[in-house]
This record gives sequence, structure tokens and C-alpha cells, in this order.
Amino acid sequence: MAKSNLKIHFLGTGTSQGIPVIGSDHPVCLSTDAKDKRLRSSILLEKNGKVITIDCGPDFRQQMLRYNAQRLDAILFTHEHSDHVLGIDDIRPLVFKAGQDMPVYGLERVLSELKNRFPYMYAQEKYPGVASLIEHHVNSEAFTVADFHIQPLHVMHGPLPILGYKIDNRFAYLTDVKTLPDHTITQLQGIDVLVISALRKKDKHFSHLLLDEAIEYAIKIGAKKTFFTHLSHHLGFHSQVDKELPENMYLAFDTLEIDLS
Ligand SMILES: [Zn+2]
Repeated sequence: MAKSNLKIHFLGTGTSQGIPVIGSDHPVCLSTDAKDKRLRSSILLEKNGKVITIDCGPDFRQQMLRYNAQRLDAILFTHEHSDHVLGIDDIRPLVFKAGQDMPVYGLERVLSELKNRFPYMYAQEKYPGVASLIEHHVNSEAFTVADFHIQPLHVMHGPLPILGYKIDNRFAYLTDVKTLPDHTITQLQGIDVLVISALRKKDKHFSHLLLDEAIEYAIKIGAKKTFFTHLSHHLGFHSQVDKELPENMYLAFDTLEIDLS
């Protein structure tokens, strides 16, 4: 397979409330290990100097400052839940710097929900300083954005159909997964690195995989390496849980980088 110069950076690996949870005295929330501090889930992909993110949650500003991001060429959305979209207003400095509106990609339902939540970004006559979005509806067709080859993947988040993305046929990012259609599992065969969500160990959730369920999918997909993300404090301490995982499976953590060049 062709080399892809792809670099992956985890902007956030926490579930919707992040870790620590506000006001919580749970031991994981009180942990002093930096790997137990998880902002809301999102990743940044870099290739040939171009940068895209998957999702743009409420911690977007802090995440992009921490990464020292200088540009953003597009945003791919998995779905419309708040922990995946609420940072969209903070794209403004990057839009002003580039002098270009921001291309956003997602299911038609997801992009129309963005319009409901952020109507001022779509107004004909905008308040000065508001950023504009360029909408690209995505369904099953592969597409190219800023040097990245992107294959959307259909994923079920409980009853809600959402998207994951396969990048350059080597890497896939699946968050907020409850079930994967067989077709999606077929599309994932042969990838080098899989990222898949795992909420916690116990108490089944209607719309999120538990860790053992995510491991089952990871075994079926058979990537060379698998990283788990979108983690709750109920999963446990990073250092303990990471040790218990099967071979070539790891917990992701904020700021983790994977180089696929
Ligand atoms: Zn969600």
C-alpha cells in the first residue's frame, strides 16, 4: 500500500462529560495521572501540511491551543450530539487566518442540525466576525479533502445512524458505536490502525459499546493496532485498564500521536 504521511493526534478521548466530571469525587476524576484527564473526543489528522479534524466538541479551543494548530482545512462530523459539535463557533480565528470559509462534511441530517443550533453562521447578513461554513453532504461515497482519501462508514449509535471515517485505507475512526453493520466490518478489513469507542466495563448502555463489546469488534476487524476512545471515568484508571487489554490493543489518551508515514 502507498505511503500516506498520515499523522493522527488525539485531541480528546473522554465521553460527553469529560474527565474529571465537574464536582465528582470519583477516584478516576481525582487522579493526578495526566492520562486520566480526558477532554471531549475528537482527533486531528495531518498530512502534507494539511489539517482536518473529526468532530469539533466543546473543548475544541483548548485542544487546538494545546496542539498549537496553525490551520484547519476541513471538519468531518460523525453526528450531531453536543459533545461532538459545540466547538464550531471557535473555528473563527482559523477561518480569519486562512481567509476562507470552513468546509464541513457530514450526513445531511447532521449538517441541518448544525444550522438549527448555529443559525447566525448561515445568516444572509452576518454579524461582523461570524465564520461561514461550506456544507458537503456525505453518505456512502468516498471523497477527497485536502489530500486525505475519506471513506465514510455507516455505524449505529443505538437507534441513531451516524458515520465513522476510514482515511487513506489505513486508519479508521469510529466513535459513539453501539453496533456495526456487516458491510462496515467488511470495509474495515486490512486497515493498520482502528480507533473505536468503549464507554465503560459494566452496565450495558443503549447507545455505546462496553469495553468487552468493543474488544469483540476489534478482534473481528483485526487491525494491526486498536485504540479505545470516548472513555468514561467509570472505565477505571488508564494505567490499570491499559495493562489488562489483549495484545495490540490500547487505551487512547489525550495528546497521543500515531505516525503512519
Ligand atoms: Zn453521541
